[in-house]
Order: sequence, then structure tokens, then C-alpha cells
Amino acid sequence: MNTVDKISSYIEALRPILYIPTFDFNSFDNIIKELSSKSKIYEFNEGLGYVNFETKNQETAYTLEEFLNLFLTEQTQPIYLVLKDVHNLIDNHKIISLLKSIALKTIYEDNYYVTIFIVATKLNIPTELEKLITVYDTPLPNRAKIIETINDFSQSMKITIDTHLVNELALSLKGFSKFEIIQILNFAYQKSGTVEKKDTQLILEEKEQIIKKSGMIEILNFKEGINDIGGLDNLKKWLYNKSKIFNNLESALEFGVETPSGMLIVGMPGCGKSLTAKATARLFNVPLLRLDIGKLLGKYVGESEENMRRAIGMAEAVSPCVLWIDEIEKAFAGAGDAGGNEVTTRLFGYFLTWMQEKKSSVFVVATSNDISNLPPEFLRKGRFDEIFFVDFPNDEERKNIIELHLKKRKKWNKNIDTIKLLKETQGYSGADIEAVIKDTIEKAFINEWKEIRTKNILDELADTKPMSVSLKDKIESLKTTLDKLDVNNASKNDNL
Ligand code: ATP
Repeated sequence: MNTVDKISSYIEALRPILYIPTFDFNSFDNIIKELSSKSKIYEFNEGLGYVNFETKNQETAYTLEEFLNLFLTEQTQPIYLVLKDVHNLIDNHKIISLLKSIALKTIYEDNYYVTIFIVATKLNIPTELEKLITVYDTPLPNRAKIIETINDFSQSMKITIDTHLVNELALSLKGFSKFEIIQILNFAYQKSGTVEKKDTQLILEEKEQIIKKSGMIEILNFKEGINDIGGLDNLKKWLYNKSKIFNNLESALEFGVETPSGMLIVGMPGCGKSLTAKATARLFNVPLLRLDIGKLLGKYVGESEENMRRAIGMAEAVSPCVLWIDEIEKAFAGAGDAGGNEVTTRLFGYFLTWMQEKKSSVFVVATSNDISNLPPEFLRKGRFDEIFFVDFPNDEERKNIIELHLKKRKKWNKNIDTIKLLKETQGYSGADIEAVIKDTIEKAFINEWKEIRTKNILDELADTKPMSVSLKDKIESLKTTLDKLDVNNASKNDNL
């Protein structure tokens, strides 16, 4: 259903207040014009008060309260009240009560037809109005609509953009609103008098800007790749296969392969979960975005979901990309439980639906130390392509990790007996091993040792308590939970 039909159906169903969170007021005016054959439109905005909807000229400098008071009497003709950017004004008890009166009259009185549109850049729904407000999220333009916007733009500017470039631009402009698309095209045009291939770079920079401004998603810079991971061979093999699809997505889709959706990595702290998220983005040749679900939580009704929608929209705008959600248990633990947090449950529902239906090339890497309180739907097949369990490294993996971290710091020499170190590193995480190597090298520098010897590392190990000891209880409970689930081991179980 397109936007006009959807909104018409809400009006017919007597939904009294429609809340449209958008920045693009212009596009929304056009939608309202398409809707209203019989209805009279009255507009209010925060700056000017009552304005003429057609000309945008000020009619009367009413306050919102005065403006709403005008419409409490009988309204036999259908009326649309368009309230723009009033999100800061509606927390007031008088305004809430006026909006409520108008809404209830529309629902219950025969000779009264007033539909209120709140068109605002921010979503702010006072609890008292929650049941009377319907939020309508304007969908972002699809490919066809983006192409139409580019073509309209080139026509109005009297420039020619060849079809191939239009298609390419349409791909990179995915995820922007119409308003933003026109802004970017304008920016490109102002720079060179036309729109050309190198402007796809400009679009990328714009995307980064938008993401930075939002504060909800971070674009990470990092150096690590798949060769920095010691062990986790099953996981790495799986990732190599997925990268073959991800890096040739178009031909894979044509062949009938599904777009890879994502993976959940559960496991012991310091064993390479974050490292794997980074290595995935490097292997797939795409940016890595980190989503902090804690930052999505807002204080108003619906605000958290709206933030989630925007964050996901941004990831889709940057796609292809890897979207890393760290410590997912902190975001969704207890969702759906009786007496659980309602916002968490709604956010969780939104996220699940998106995961299930998404067609975009946003590859989700969710990482977690503890999944015991995650809702079972989350772990069901079909949400993630695979769930991996990352345990403390086995013998072969520890050998790899020790060598890798020594080599990384150019301190590997063949006198180091890694086999001897294996016995003493049982139960050590990758992070523990890295810390031991770092500390040994620091000591070598301070004491001016010529090279690192096995004994130096052994001495350092004797002074270090591994994570498996300090977190013993937590680890036991994680293993019990995992035993009950169909989870893949990230490692090839090859002890030396
Ligand atoms: P947490 O659950 O505490 O966030 P994590 O599993 O995400 O931990 P990482 O941040 O990936 O752990 O690991 C910490 C550091 O330990 C890494 O930067 C890396 O240097 C080292 N490390 C951990 N596992 C490995 C591994 N398998 N191979 C090489 N280095 C590793």
C-alpha cells in the first residue's frame, strides 16, 4: 500500500491523530494535498502560528492552544489540522487536553470530522495521548522512486546524467529520504555544475555525516583481519564461504542464493568475538558499524522504536556493511517475559521482524557473553544464519595465538617452545595470552634482554590469573545454557 492509501485508510478508520516523524515537510505537504479532495486544511507551525497551508504565509500569530481552541465547535466538513514541529509544545497539560478533546469528538460525535496530523522532526508522544495517536513512518524511497527523483532533478537543472550513472547513484542513495537525496544532488551540482561519477564518493561522505550526527551508530576504524584470529577454524571457514557470496552478491542472488543475514557469536570473554566482528567486515570488504542499543532508549513513548528504525535505516543506507551489535544480552534480556520491560519487548520485536524480512546487504554480527536471558525466539533458526559458540582456545589454538601475538610484535624466535607453554596456558583466553605476551615484551625492554625465552613467558604466566578462574561460575552457567541449544562450535576440536 502506498503512503497516500495507507493514510487514507487510517482517516477512514477514524484514527484521530496521525504522527508523522519526518524532516521532509515538503514531501508530506504533497501527500496531504493528494489526500484532501473535500477536506479543508489548516496549518500551524511553531514559529508563525496559524499559516496558510498553500502559501505558507502567516494568517494569525496564534499560540497552539488558541489555534486548537478554534476547532472545538461542530465541524460538519472534514478538516485536517496540520501541526508542524510542535513536538516541544505538546508536553503541556492544556495542549494534551485539547488534543484529547478533539480526538475523542472525532471518534464519538457524528457531526465532527477533524483529523490531526503532527508532522515533526522528533517523535514525542505524551503518555496521555498514546492510545489516540497512530505513528506513520514514511518509508524511504525505493530504487524506482530514487531514480525518479534523480531524473526530475536532472530535468529541472537541465543536465544529462547517463542511465548507467543514474543506476549507480540510485544504489548509493539508498537509505536517504527524498529531501536528503535532493540536498545531496544539489550539493554535487553546486560543486561542478553537473552530477558525475565521482559524486558517489560525496554520497558516502554524506552518509558518514548523517551517521555521526545521530550518535547511535559508530563507524569503526580498525586494522585487524581474519589472519589476526588464532584458531576458530570452523567459524573462519564459514566466514570465507559467506564472503564469497557477499563479495559477489549480484551473481549469487541471480543464482538463487539468499543474501547472508548474520551470525550470533556467544562465548567466553576475551576469546575473539569482537575480533571476529572486525575480521568479518575486512573479509567482506565493507564498513563496520557498531550499534549501541543502550543509546536508542529514549524517554518518550515510541521514541526508542523510532530511534531503532532510524539506526537500522542508516545501516541500510550504508549497506553493504557489517552491523555489529555488541553485548546483545544487555539490550534484549527479558524481552517478552511477563512483567518484563515493555520498551525492550517492543524493540526486540522490531529487531526480529527486521532480521527476518530484511533483503538488504546488512550483515549482522551480534556478540554476547551470556544468552541465558535472551528470548528463545532470538535463537531460533532463521534469524541468524548461524550461531557460534566461542570457547576458551584449545591446545592448537593457544599455540597459534601465542605465535601470532609474538610475531605481531616481531619477537617470535625459534627457541620459544610453544608446546611447553601449552600446558601452562590451559584455561587462558586469547586476551589473557595477549596480555602475558605484552607484559613479557615490556619486561624484555626494561631489562634489556636480547630475546624472549620460553622461561620469560612461563614466569609471566605464573603471575597471571586466567579469566576462566576469575569467571568460573559465569562460565559454568553459560555452558549449561549452550548445551541445550543447537549451537556450532567456532573451533575445530583438535587438541594437540
Ligand atoms: P568480550 O566478551 O570481553 O568483549 P571478546 O570475545 O570480544 O571479549 P576480543 O575483544 O575479541 O574478545 O579479544 C580481546 C583481544 O584478545 C583481541 O584484541 C585480541 O588481541 C586477543 N584475542 C582474543 N582471542 C583471540 C584469538 N582467537 N586470536 C588472536 N587474538 C585473540
